[in-house]
Amino acid sequence: MTTLLGAAEIRALAEQMGLKPAKALGQNFVIDGNVCRKIVKLAQVSPEDIALEIGPGLGSLTLALLDEAAGVVAVEIDSRLAMQLPITVAAHTDKSANLKVINQDALTLQELPVAPSVLVANLPYNVSVPVLLHLLEKFPTLRSGVVMVQAEVADRLVAGPGRKDYGIPSLKAAWWGKMSHVGSVSRSVFWPSPNVDSKLVGFTRGTPPGDEAMRREVFAAIDSAFAQRRKMLRSALSNWVGSSASAETLLMKAGIDPTLRGEALVIEDYCAIARAKAEMGIGS
Ligand code: SAM
Repeated sequence: MTTLLGAAEIRALAEQMGLKPAKALGQNFVIDGNVCRKIVKLAQVSPEDIALEIGPGLGSLTLALLDEAAGVVAVEIDSRLAMQLPITVAAHTDKSANLKVINQDALTLQELPVAPSVLVANLPYNVSVPVLLHLLEKFPTLRSGVVMVQAEVADRLVAGPGRKDYGIPSLKAAWWGKMSHVGSVSRSVFWPSPNVDSKLVGFTRGTPPGDEAMRREVFAAIDSAFAQRRKMLRSALSNWVGSSASAETLLMKAGIDPTLRGEALVIEDYCAIARAKAEMGIGS
């Protein structure tokens, strides 16, 4: 088993590179190898897997992934970190040929050199939800994963209707599959220590309830419903369909009470709304 990076080595690497962790890029590096092993175990990474890691940073989790997966594709926005990663990996393991590093913003990823099967990442906190949703959309071979995110974001991703955290991330994530809490992570395992708590979210991809055209409509309906969260649906959806009268007709057709709020509906209800919109011939 590879010896993973500890606190002293993380600091030494950063110093050697002249790297000051950038808050804007969510650069909080894990300094505890046991946490990295735990994440890889929770993700059930097997020797058949190609793991996708977003934001490998100095390589803490990357090294743990290389111990278990057939390959790792690591996407890092910071070119200094992307350049250093293969060097660090080669110094720790003989599996460096199994690593591909891509220096890119994960939000702009359209293709990868190999099809990933599992996503394992300590996500940059300021863009964790858009990154997760983007990857689920663009890489259908990703069947499951575990991501570390800010605790509040984790609560939003896993929330069901009626919970105060339920909203756009919960519903859009539910389109792609099942999200669940799989653990929490202490602030003390990071350098620098963040001023937020972290949680681990596991996901398993399901069968999406519709095709890509349907997904776009459903996501637009969700955005409209939550843009004015306190409003009843007939009013919240009025801009999206043209008027509150049309919104009321649409909701009745979908079998949904127009006086409800967006937070009362589940993803299947938004699909019913999108289908009713298509049947009524209302364009996007
Ligand atoms: N995985 C490392 C670890 O656990 O120690 C670092 C995790 S750190 C929370 C987030 C990493 O994501 C940083 O290395 C940062 O440079 C990178 N990052 C930030 N925004 C990114 C983006 N849009 N696309 C790819 N990487 C990004």
